[in-house]
Amino acid sequence: MGKITGFLEFARIEEGYDGVDERLRHYREFVRVLMPEQARQQGARCMDCGTPFCNSGCPVNNIIPDFNDLVYRDDWKSAIAVLHSTNNFPEFTGRICPAPCEAACTLNINSQPVGIKSIEHAIIDRAFAEGWVLPQPAAVRTGRKVAIVGSGPAGLAAAQQLARAGHEVTLFEKNDQVGGLLRFGIPDFKLDKSHIDRRVEQLLAEGVTIRTNTLVGELPADSKVTNWATAAIAPEQLMEDFDAVLLTGGAEQSRDLPVPGRELAGVHFAMEFLPQQNRVNAGVAMPQQIRAEGKRVIVIGGGDTGSDCVGTSNRQGAASVVQFELMPCPPEEEDKPLTWPYWPYKLRTSSSHQEGCEREFAIATKEFVGENGRLTGLRTVRVEMREGRFVEIDGSEQFWPADLVLLAMGFTSPVDTVLAGFGVEKDGRGNARATTEAQGGYATNVAGVFAAGDMRRGQSLVVWAIREGRQAARAVDEYLMGSSDLPR
Ligand SMILES: Cc1cc2nc3c(=O)[nH]c(=O)nc-3n(C[C@H](O)[C@H](O)[C@H](O)COP(=O)(O)OP(=O)(O)OC[C@H]3O[C@@H](n4cnc5c(N)ncnc54)[C@H](O)[C@@H]3O)c2cc1C
Ligand code: SF4
Repeated sequence: MGKITGFLEFARIEEGYDGVDERLRHYREFVRVLMPEQARQQGARCMDCGTPFCNSGCPVNNIIPDFNDLVYRDDWKSAIAVLHSTNNFPEFTGRICPAPCEAACTLNINSQPVGIKSIEHAIIDRAFAEGWVLPQPAAVRTGRKVAIVGSGPAGLAAAQQLARAGHEVTLFEKNDQVGGLLRFGIPDFKLDKSHIDRRVEQLLAEGVTIRTNTLVGELPADSKVTNWATAAIAPEQLMEDFDAVLLTGGAEQSRDLPVPGRELAGVHFAMEFLPQQNRVNAGVAMPQQIRAEGKRVIVIGGGDTGSDCVGTSNRQGAASVVQFELMPCPPEEEDKPLTWPYWPYKLRTSSSHQEGCEREFAIATKEFVGENGRLTGLRTVRVEMREGRFVEIDGSEQFWPADLVLLAMGFTSPVDTVLAGFGVEKDGRGNARATTEAQGGYATNVAGVFAAGDMRRGQSLVVWAIREGRQAARAVDEYLMGSSDLPR
């Protein structure tokens, strides 16, 4: 373990942020990674518990006590080897993972948890700076061909694992660039896109073929999902050309709010708004960009996507930003004896909220109001939960002036037509039906067709997508070769 008395001697150190005024002027990352000495001290706080709850709290089961100890001992090269043994992309999770591992840390019972995510961030940034992250091309090629549809974190992790197992991997992506929601959902100020580009170079050097601008199957004519495809390939063709197909197309269908006035100009899905700013940051001209500048913005949906809309609106110069959440305001502090080591229910305030935003809870939108086809505001009512359902509170109606409304209420399912094109059965929530069992997991009802990530589990997190991509890669490898040496 780190230092036997470390958890008694040292307090938790948080990563610093640039000041609000400064960071609102740009779209770049603003989190200050720990200095090596600070990371060593954090590592020293780890108690190397007999049962490391952090390890099972982490969806990729990072071997946290080991890398904490290695950082404390100043052996950063071994630390990155341990980290990479369970996680293909710690630079993504070290920046944007909500860190369920820290909720599960034993120190979190009656003290502050070890800053696991900040240590992960420091390890991978140092590894890249030192030139320790190199391509690992397979020594032996199998001659088997695998198609992966969708290049989000699930598809990228699976592609890397399968290429390292010696398979000929082709990654298909309908957008013009690789990365899925890492690229076109999550704002640059949370995750700079150069981190994805660096991994793309590594994948290419490991033998992965990448075909962007290529839609596999079809989208509905009125689909609003991001799609820059200039070519299409039929599912039947893919199944004929490849020995196995892995579907990692995400859960792209945004949840709508079909109340009167939904059709007004000025009411948009978050996923129409956020990708545009990322493209503009990348130098793409967007003459019709949806912009918050000078506008009274209301974000409907209190989750991560909503918070990203708040941060982006403030950077664009919104006149005001209000965020609505249907659920009541959670408690400021969790009930630790009740929740530890699980993810606690408590109020979460993101860096975007800190940049300026009014938050309203227990509020439902009844109607969008407009003039000449353009939004001017919305009507709401307060709600409370009675006997398991929301009830409107009499006399609580309110009118909110607004020029831009962003719908960030989550995602319902993958796009129907893509699964239908492969004849893949869906579960009750509309996701691709496949289990995660060690034997036969990730396989759909169609022989040789597998599914993973948000497309299988529904809207989730980057770290879960990486886990599923890794595990599905092993399932595909077993299917092709009869057995697999890839880790689960
Ligand atoms: C705005 C926003 C912010 C988020 N912030 C966080 C965060 O801070 N931390 C976190 O952990 N998670 C966050 N998430 C969730 C996280 O991004 C997702 O859970 C994760 O990206 C899912 O990965 P995936 O690989 O399964 O799918 P995706 O990332 O959705 O990638 C799917 C890819 O498949 C492509 N595709 C789909 N169908 C086809 C087809 N037919 N042909 C070709 N290509 C196709 C899509 O274009 C897309 O590129 C956020 C999500 C959003 C929307
Ligand atoms: S990937 Fe997430 S849960 Fe796992 S160790 Fe890193 S921050 Fe914690």
